[in-house]
Amino acid sequence: MLKLYNTLTKQKEDFKPIDEKNNVVGIYSCGLTVYNYAHIGNMRTYIFMDTLRKVLKYNGYKLKHVMNITDVGHLTSDADEGEDKMAKSAREQHKTVYEIAKMYTEAYQKDFKKLNIEDTEYLVKATDHIKDMEEYVKEIMANGYAYETSKGVYFDTSKMENYGRMLSNNNMEELLSGARVEVDSEKRNPQDFALWIKAPKEHIMKWDSFLGLCYPGWHIECSAMSRKYLGDVFDIHTGGVDHIPIHHENEIAQAIGATGHIPAKIWMHVEFLQINGGKMSKSLKNVYTISDIEKEGIEPLAYRYFTFSAHYRTKLNFTWDAIKSAQVALNRLREATKQHKNGAEKGDQNKIKEYKERFLNAINDDINMPLAIAVLWDVARENVKSKDYYNLLMELDKVTSLDLDKENVEEEIEYPEEVKAILEERKNARDNKNFAKSDELRDKLKDLGYTVIDSKEGQKLKKI
Ligand code: AMP
Ligand code: ZN
Repeated sequence: MLKLYNTLTKQKEDFKPIDEKNNVVGIYSCGLTVYNYAHIGNMRTYIFMDTLRKVLKYNGYKLKHVMNITDVGHLTSDADEGEDKMAKSAREQHKTVYEIAKMYTEAYQKDFKKLNIEDTEYLVKATDHIKDMEEYVKEIMANGYAYETSKGVYFDTSKMENYGRMLSNNNMEELLSGARVEVDSEKRNPQDFALWIKAPKEHIMKWDSFLGLCYPGWHIECSAMSRKYLGDVFDIHTGGVDHIPIHHENEIAQAIGATGHIPAKIWMHVEFLQINGGKMSKSLKNVYTISDIEKEGIEPLAYRYFTFSAHYRTKLNFTWDAIKSAQVALNRLREATKQHKNGAEKGDQNKIKEYKERFLNAINDDINMPLAIAVLWDVARENVKSKDYYNLLMELDKVTSLDLDKENVEEEIEYPEEVKAILEERKNARDNKNFAKSDELRDKLKDLGYTVIDSKEGQKLKKI
């Protein structure tokens, strides 16, 4: 039986879909705000989301999974303050908000592909659902949970018992003293949040509505879109832990206001990725992306493997040494897989059954990937080399998606003269510590279809 930890009830629960008859699971995942390149912290959360999908499928469920693209409304502070992240990025880069959205959407989708994060059944853009959001806001108002001020429409948190304490045990005094909430004398309660905002003249993104030219608050998009595609109550809602205290509390409040229901039965949250034991931040210049990892000659899938080294509900610490070790381990796992593929012996059927059970128990215990990976290793390390073990590894890799069948770095092949010349030039550049040149030559090799990996033995090439 699949057990999942629910932030709402603070316990692991047996999973049973609402639509048991058709075995379909409805999931909503908060997607990226496309104002910047997604970083590897974001990717930890989406690799988890993808793994959850694959665990559900492995258990025989069908999926109806919605992910959004936030291309409007997410302000620089989660609590209704600051500038719209999209507008700020557009202003800084002298582009339109739509160009910004397109550029960063394409960029994250490329990263998703490289990480074997498969497409969700629905991928929905906030700007395509403004009308749905407007209707949702009107419903909340009609039910008496929201009021109008000169700035827009606000959710009246005093109308909801337990506001802000559904998922997070938020202490209101603490929240308010944290100076996160702007003082606004028109608000009935300081923690009331914006649902629909009247656009000031200079505001770029705005839509004609029942209140004139307006734009939506950030939280309302997820409520409106999840309801549109999944109904008033669906099975699972996912996001990172930073969404618990504000975004998801507000999503719940909005849904109570509109439909009277908590919108999802299970709320799952991924702990943060840290860098060298601390926060990722622009000032520390450690906001790494998947491209940064590739520039070091490390495969994106080594990052996927690395994220499986900790349970999703614990912090994970990224260091360059750790990611390099992950690449080495993944290469070894693939090498062992290949040996089984070429093996002529018979595998032990009892052991295979046992391995399958252990794997299923691991993934079904709240997606315990460190334990699941340990099973892969035990199969890989079998002394008897057998195609049966290879087939087993391939089956288990449907969940882990590490391309265990992929060839490792090609070693003894003859490269074209042009490539050999670049490799020589790059070796000289690196010997002279001219890393700018070395990076430039890496890009040249990329154009020719090769990724270069720098190892102790020197440069190695891999076909892209
Ligand atoms: P955003 O675009 O800011 O809404 O973030 C997209 C997703 O990434 C959200 O689910 C966040 O909770 C998650 N996220 C942001 N930073 C991290 C991090 N350092 N580690 C893990 N997940 C993160
Ligand atoms: Zn959301």
